[in-house]
Parts: sequence; C-alpha cells; structure tokens
Amino acid sequence: MNIILLGPPGAGKGTQARHLVDTRDMVQLSTGDMLREAKDSGTEMGKMVADVMARGDLVTDEIVIGLIREKLEDQTDHGGFIFDGFPRTLAQATALDELLKAAGKPLDHVIELGVNDEALVARIAGRSTCGNCGEVYHDVTKPQPADGKCVKCGSTDFKRRADDNEESLRNRLMEYYKKTSPLLGYYYAHELLRRVDGLAEIDDVQGDIAAILNDPA
Ligand code: AMP
Repeated sequence: MNIILLGPPGAGKGTQARHLVDTRDMVQLSTGDMLREAKDSGTEMGKMVADVMARGDLVTDEIVIGLIREKLEDQTDHGGFIFDGFPRTLAQATALDELLKAAGKPLDHVIELGVNDEALVARIAGRSTCGNCGEVYHDVTKPQPADGKCVKCGSTDFKRRADDNEESLRNRLMEYYKKTSPLLGYYYAHELLRRVDGLAEIDDVQGDIAAILNDPA
C-alpha cells in the first residue's frame, strides 16, 4: 500500500506518518526531513536549500524529485511508502506518477488532512520534536516530559524547527495554497482523494486513516 498524506504545514502529516511506520511497517518518505538532514550534515545541496527553507519557500522540483527517486529504488520488503510533504507541486505529482509506474508500484490513496489556518498557527507555534526519534511534542497539548526525557526513546535532546515561526509559516501557508492545493483537484480527478478531519484528536485521525487503508474499495 502506497499513500500520500496531503495537507498544509502543521496538519499532522508527520505525526500520522510516524504512527503508520510503527503499526504497519510502512516507510515514511518526508522530503522535509531529507532536506533538513542534508542541511544539518552540511552537504552542497543542504547549503543550497538552507535559505529557501528558512524563508518557507519551496525547494526546486528537480531537487526533491531526485531525493524521492533515490528512495524508490529501495526494494526491501515493507508495508509500502507514505509520501509526507511530497508532492507539493503538479510537476512533482506527475513525476511521482512516472516514478511509481516505472517501479511497478501503485498509488493507493491520497489522504487530505483537513484543518483551518488558525489551528495551524497555534499548532506550529508550540511544536518541538525529539532530536533522536522524532517524537512530536507541543507546549500546550503534549508538553515535553517533566523529567526532560523523551517518552519514546529516553533521549534528552529536543529540537525546534528554525522555520516554525510566524513569518515563515505565513509564507509556507501561501506556498501551500498557491502551489500544493491544486493537487487536491488532480487526485480527486484520479479518484484517489480521501479526506479526514485533521483537527480531530490524534487517535481519531489515526482511526479514520486506518479505516481508509483497511477499506478494500
Ligand atoms: P516540511 O518538513 O514538509 O514542512 O518541509 C520543510 C521545508 O522543506 C518546506 O517549507 C520547503 O522549503 C522544503 N520542502 C519540503 N518538501 C518539499 C517539496 N516536496 N517541494 C519543495 N520544497 C519542499
């Protein structure tokens, strides 16, 4: 089963993807994580994208398609791919169609996590993650444990994303509406689009996504 999680920044794509990795042995392909890794390890590409990401602009299609192409060559046995934060433009969507076709892998569902803008600002403003395992925390809804240790792996290294500030978020949202939201129509026309309420409790969103994945139709 190969799926895309689609939605604006802060909609909960990463959180839901991580749950699917844990429960269904799926592989999360987050272009945002790949780009942050490149930036942190100081590669040439990482240096090139750092400013673009800090502003909340989109990195070029060529770069992110190249990252995904490499990952799709992974032939190990697993429960399928979760595309998280990719595709973000129509050019990326058509490139993904081609890559999947060439790899003989179907795209089973595109799941839109529906949210509203005010909720996104609040979610993103308090967000942090475990630097070791990626567990997501929020200052209000899921504070970091009082003992300073990640609930999942015990690490004491927590991170906040440099682009999780209001100015960058405003730009990321604008990019989403201009360049990514047309993908909703694209996948609707391909009869792949399903929608869940991204503002529901995390467990309920997980349940709604599971119902889609378990639906043989
Ligand atoms: P994310 O972690 O998905 O919110 O991505 C963080 C940043 O990485 C975005 O604001 C973009 O600058 C860049 N990025 C991630 N995925 C893509 C993509 N598919 N296309 C273009 N830029 C991307």
